Amino acid sequence: MSRTLVLNATYEPLGVVAERRALILVLNARATMVEDSGGVLHFAGGEIALPAVIKLNKFIRVPYRRNVPLSRRAIFARDGGKCVYCTAPATSIDHVVPRSRGGAHHWENVVSACHKCNHLKADKHLKELGWRMRALPREPAGAAWRVLGTGRADESWLPYLEPFGVEAAIA
Ligand SMILES: [Zn+2]
Repeated sequence: MSRTLVLNATYEPLGVVAERRALILVLNARATMVEDSGGVLHFAGGEIALPAVIKLNKFIRVPYRRNVPLSRRAIFARDGGKCVYCTAPATSIDHVVPRSRGGAHHWENVVSACHKCNHLKADKHLKELGWRMRALPREPAGAAWRVLGTGRADESWLPYLEPFGVEAAIA
């Protein structure tokens, strides 16, 4: 089932709902379609475009959730889908300080890596290899992570997510 990105009246990303639920919000004048998905819903009286992105007509206050769940998808999203060591497309997760040497499974110690770098690095420290990272890994922040931390983002959503904490588009 297709999903729709929901933005607050301020364009801040709020979350994701099923496409049909989004359509009902639009039909009930609670939201406005910002971007259509290219799909259409056929009904007896005709057809209607399905939304990829909607914006609520009234601002709603939502508590900000601080911790972004640590997942492979979220790590790839934070690191732009690229290996932090060589910028090749990422295919795996690397622990900067290897787990075998006490490295934690934590935002500040996990990065996306390509297979080659992950294999070369194995259980070594960066210093031992003479490698450097472009930036230190951090826990991501920003409203876009309400969406990115939980599931796959549709490509059409990225322009709406990028101003809210996504540094790079996701492959
Ligand atoms: Zn690499």
